[in-house]
Amino acid sequence: MLTEILTDEQLIKLYTTPGYLVAVDYPKKEVKLHTVDCMLADPISSIGVKPSKARENKTGEFWYSESRDEANSKAQEIAKNKEGYTYTICPICNR
Ligand SMILES: [Zn+2]
Repeated sequence: MLTEILTDEQLIKLYTTPGYLVAVDYPKKEVKLHTVDCMLADPISSIGVKPSKARENKTGEFWYSESRDEANSKAQEIAKNKEGYTYTICPICNR
């Protein structure tokens, strides 16, 4: 099931659950697929995504799914529906 991630806490709780995160960055016009244990998907890390802040500033959106196929489909759908967005699979956690 696809779940929208609205806060950092919500994502932190998912850290030990196997699954995938779709991270949408509005300013960068970028949609990225991560595993939830990727350091770039970790709100605690300085280089990680920050869903709470992104929501507050309207700079991004985040989706979680246990299924890679489902997360992948969502990421592609977002990239297709938004003008000029690129979709990439994170090179760090892609496995
Ligand atoms: Zn990643």
